[in-house]
Parts: sequence; structure tokens; C-alpha cells
Amino acid sequence: MRILIVEDEKEILNFLKVSLEAECFVVDMAEDGEGGSYLARTNDYDLIILDNMLPKKSGREICEEIRKDGKNVPILMLSVKSETTTKIDLLNAGADDYLTKPFSFEELLARARALLRRPKQIESETIRVKDLSLDTKKHLAKKGDREIYLTRKEFILLEYLMRNPGLVLSRGMIMEHVWDMHADPFSNTVESHILNIRKKIDSKSKIKLIHTVPGRGYKFGT
Ligand code: CA
Repeated sequence: MRILIVEDEKEILNFLKVSLEAECFVVDMAEDGEGGSYLARTNDYDLIILDNMLPKKSGREICEEIRKDGKNVPILMLSVKSETTTKIDLLNAGADDYLTKPFSFEELLARARALLRRPKQIESETIRVKDLSLDTKKHLAKKGDREIYLTRKEFILLEYLMRNPGLVLSRGMIMEHVWDMHADPFSNTVESHILNIRKKIDSKSKIKLIHTVPGRGYKFGT
């Protein structure tokens, strides 16, 4: 899952990036409103964390621009109590949730996860397809009772595949949700990661879960 954070306070920005990456998210960053608005509208993020008080353009304005573009990506706004913008203003501008600074990382993470699983999986943190299960909170993959060791990137990729069963996922879509903005679009990194995951989850099984769709991409499921 790929997240954009727009925040002008460097300490908070870096702290969130490091902490979210440790939780197996892919993170892009912007430090002002214009850059943030540009990234938000030109990429397909799974979640946007948006500070309200920003140089060049406010979070509230960015929020409105994103919605005007017809994007329904979940948006979590950060605000400070003393701001004149109220929480109702932020929700009216198209935000899905908000947090008042200072906040704990645990609370941000819980709210981010709630926004990410809406509306697909209301209850569970564990995604299951056949005998494969992925606990997105504990970062644990299991095939039957056997635990599968995945690298961080393999985990993020498998999560993306498992959240989109039955759909043809192009290389570009996979890049967009699993790699950050610094990834080289011409490398064979998607192919090599798919190959590694296949070795780990499909090589010994009769029923394969990852399928190549020639010329189009990959499909996950049976
Ligand atoms: Ca700020």
C-alpha cells in the first residue's frame, strides 16, 4: 500500500515516513502544498496523510482539488487545535478522517488502517485466499500452517495482489502501489519480485495463485 504524506514539519514528516515504512507501507513525501497537490493528483495512492497548515497551499485546498479531480483516495488530515479551520470544514472539503496534533503514532496507524480497509474488509486484518493468509498487522504470511518468510517488498507486493483478486494487474499498476516515486520504471524489479513470491507460495502447490496474463500483467487467485 502506497501512502503520500504532505507535511512541512520535517521532524514529523521523517518520523512518519520511517515509522510507516517499518509497518510495510511505501511512502512518498511532499513538504509544501503545491508539491503535495501535484503528487496527489498525478499518482494513484492508497492513502494520503495531509497536514492542513502548509506553505503555498493549505491541506483543505488540496483536499478539495483531489475530490474535484474525481479521486476517491482516503484522506487523513492533520490539524492543530488552534487553527480556525474546524474539523467540520475539513470533512466538508472531502477529508475522511482527521487527527489533532500532537497525536501518537499508534493512533495514526489505527486510523490509517481503518481507512485502508474501508469498504472492502470491515473486520479483518488478515486477508485469506485459499490456504494462503496474510496478517497485515503482524506482517505474517502463512501457507496452510507453514510460515513463509517474505522480504518487506515481497510482503507489500503480495498484499497488493491479495487485495485485488481476480483482476488483471498491469506492471504499471503494481509499480504505482508497491514502489515509491523513486523507482526506475524500466528495471525488471516487478518481474523479479513476482518470481521470488511464486517460488515461496506456488512452487510446491498444485493450485497456483499467481498467473501471468500474457501482454497484460498478472492475476491473483484460483
Ligand atoms: Ca504544518
